[in-house]
Amino acid sequence: MKQTVSFSKNAVNVFFHITTRCNLKCAHCYINPVQHGDSTLPAATAGRWLSFFQKPGKAANLILLGGEPTLHPELAKIVSAARQIGYASVTIDTNGYLFHDILDQVTPEDVDYFSFSLDGATPATNDQIRGAGCYAACTRGIRRAVEKGFGVSVIYTVSRKNLHELADMPEVLSDLGVHRFFIQVIGIRGRSAQAGQDALQLTRQQWEQNVPPVAQRVAKRGIAVTYPKVFLETDEIFECAGRVAENYFIFPNGRVYQCPLCEDFALHSFQITDQGLLPAPKINEADLFSLDIAEGCVINKLVQGGNIDYDNQGRPKWKIACCLLKEEIPAG
Ligand code: SF4
Ligand code: SF4
Repeated sequence: MKQTVSFSKNAVNVFFHITTRCNLKCAHCYINPVQHGDSTLPAATAGRWLSFFQKPGKAANLILLGGEPTLHPELAKIVSAARQIGYASVTIDTNGYLFHDILDQVTPEDVDYFSFSLDGATPATNDQIRGAGCYAACTRGIRRAVEKGFGVSVIYTVSRKNLHELADMPEVLSDLGVHRFFIQVIGIRGRSAQAGQDALQLTRQQWEQNVPPVAQRVAKRGIAVTYPKVFLETDEIFECAGRVAENYFIFPNGRVYQCPLCEDFALHSFQITDQGLLPAPKINEADLFSLDIAEGCVINKLVQGGNIDYDNQGRPKWKIACCLLKEEIPAG
């Protein structure tokens, strides 16, 4: 059965963008070069930064991202540094091209999961979003990672462009031998913000009619599934991860956010400088986390409020949950 997973007070999750460079130009790419720069962090610097987020008594989980992290020529060194520092788990998110023979440079003991982004059950749909040839490259990468004994996840960012193929994913995932499936909601930031909310964002009805049933079907095939909760009834408890949990989204220009929805703006909570990890000047995202509004998530209302509906008294019909609040269904 599905279970809402509350925010952990005993773990630190570090989402580390070690480069913003990428070989692709996905239609919904959330990387914003104006905000995040175009640099690649040297491995020695990355190792130093990683040490800032280790907290006594808390397990630290590392997710390495880009851009495309496998373009980083020293990715294996960064993985090794994370393990030496004591990170409890390491995941590499990839578009599937797996540059620098990364599968030969790390082992399943070093890397808990490779997470592959696939945004369609067919080349036609996936490649329309991610670019020609991506489906073939990504599925080839998945098969190679599975063969080599790595844990393998697939991330499907659902939008109006690929909702129609979500129902075909259970069979695709089984065929590929995937272990975990993440359904992600499209964020209206980066290139998606240029496309407009109405072009991409699902309605509540579209989300509820499609995502939970497909998730159940995938779990029955022995694949664990995670997807965001998104919608809360007005009497359900709302919690902002920025207030109660430790999630850090680090960019190579030294910006550190606690909320991914803020990444299109200079609202980061911290800045890494030669002096270390320092609080960023106010006003920043942390000031917004403390605002209580009837719609739930403040930043959602500000940057992608098209997913809220109001009654004729002007009251929201539901709340939007923290984007980091997840439903999990264990492998059935
Ligand atoms: S979404 Fe990821 S794979 Fe696609 S262009 Fe952006 S960084 Fe590259
Ligand atoms: S998504 Fe909303 S609720 Fe979650 S951390 Fe950001 S501001 Fe807080």
